[in-house]
Amino acid sequence: MASTALQSQLTAPNGHTYVQPTGLFINNEWVPSSDGKTIASINPTNESEIISVQAASSSDIDKAVAAARAALHAPSWRDLGASERGKLLYRLADLVEAHRITLATIETWDNGKPFTVARDEDLVEVAETLRYYAGWADKVFGQVIETTPDKFAYTIREPVGVCGQIIPWNYPLSMAAWKLGPALACGNTVVLKPAEQTPLSVLYFANLIIEAGFPAGVVNIVNGHGRIAGAALASHPDVDKIAFTGSTATARDIMKMAASNLKNITLETGGKSPLIVFNDADLEQAVEWAHIGIMSNQGQICTATSRILVQDEVYDRFLAKFKEQVKQISKVGDPFEESTFQGPQVTKAQYDRVLSYAEIGKSEGATLALGGQPASKKEGKGFFVEPTVFTDVSSQMRIYQEEVFGPFVVLARFSTEEDAIRMANETTYGLGSALFTTDLVRAHRVARRIEAGMVWINSSNDSDWRIPFGGVKGSGIGRELGEEGLKAYSQVKSVHVNMKAKL
Ligand code: NAD
Repeated sequence: MASTALQSQLTAPNGHTYVQPTGLFINNEWVPSSDGKTIASINPTNESEIISVQAASSSDIDKAVAAARAALHAPSWRDLGASERGKLLYRLADLVEAHRITLATIETWDNGKPFTVARDEDLVEVAETLRYYAGWADKVFGQVIETTPDKFAYTIREPVGVCGQIIPWNYPLSMAAWKLGPALACGNTVVLKPAEQTPLSVLYFANLIIEAGFPAGVVNIVNGHGRIAGAALASHPDVDKIAFTGSTATARDIMKMAASNLKNITLETGGKSPLIVFNDADLEQAVEWAHIGIMSNQGQICTATSRILVQDEVYDRFLAKFKEQVKQISKVGDPFEESTFQGPQVTKAQYDRVLSYAEIGKSEGATLALGGQPASKKEGKGFFVEPTVFTDVSSQMRIYQEEVFGPFVVLARFSTEEDAIRMANETTYGLGSALFTTDLVRAHRVARRIEAGMVWINSSNDSDWRIPFGGVKGSGIGRELGEEGLKAYSQVKSVHVNMKAKL
């Protein structure tokens, strides 16, 4: 099939017209899937089909991995200077900026997130993340280590090799940038599998990779189902590393598959992050951040602060203000409208999941303080749910322990600092955590004792490409972003030098 066939001109609901690629991106070319299978991308706002895109089979994954392996050894990439790799990433970041409105439009159409968020937050993050790692490309180097007068060694930081990257649907382009930036800065080659629910923006982004000038095969983007394409990538004998973001259950499967050839792995998984409000907190500030921390991005954030723990004395006041904030700010509606705070959940499966947890919460005896229902829809369509707040929640309840991944929050009380720390830590997860207090000493004391990869003092869900991101316990292995993120994509070779002629 001619590569021009694997694209369509589309007009998005905001009137923006663009050309959508629909193929598999292998070796800088658009190709069809080997078995002719496709996946329909659904607009979560009205449940209509946007377009069908090619779905990779395991033999397509073989082809993509072979392309990435060949590119790893090709002089056009292997011998490219590190500063030149950085320039390619800078160019890619500039192209993302130039195509920002199109990319944000696709993200909103396919995922349901508010256009204002896609345009002003996600796309800024994508360009800045690529730029940040562009700057690192020629600053990843080894050391010289002296041992005896006659011997020394030096270390070289080398790429890991062919990296499989499996990303989720909640931040399609940001997740691609988080993974591609450090991988390419360090000289790896990549096979990236977008989430089958939201492939469209990442496919459009693939054309920018060609335009930026990356050699063929350095980045391959193959959409497909997790159990077929994702599993083929995670278990592939010629893939050196797997980087995954998604559910803890899938991460477990990926670890097993990656074990076949001892792949290097990094996993960013789920969370049930606490937000602690102490008696001495600035309550207005705590309420604003507590709302942002769980209701942003339709609650579909791995670090969402979905358990709010409030000290006895301020509990009632906090709850009243928090409910008011949710009612005032969480306007649910068409994600292309500028005033919308919350769009639809990404899929019917996620919509059903959030509503099912509302039923679970009620059956467990918690008090439904707000929401718990489908939100009003245009012509009965769309995966909209009301922002949902449960109170009188105890730690044995499923709604306290399990990740809902929606605009769904539980509140519980605590009496002492020790209680707060114990309650914050009593889940299998350990991703984010937030605490509100005006006591400087307490803030840092508690930050140390929380079992989490990230702590926000007097804020929630701050994320920045310069700062390491990741979890402990069931929330993952390894760190992305920041200088730390480079460690996942380079490995150290030690070269021993003996200068003495005789033993
Ligand atoms: P998932 O973990 O199944 O999917 C994430 C990615 O993994 C997708 O690209 C998917 O195709 C791929 N995948 C799925 N099964 C695979 C397999 N067997 N082998 C290899 N790759 C596979 O997540 P989901 O089913 O889309 O969502 C379910 C739940 O996961 C959500 O409700 C939420 O709790 C959690 N989630 C977390 C994040 C996060 O950022 N941590 C993102 C999305 C979903």
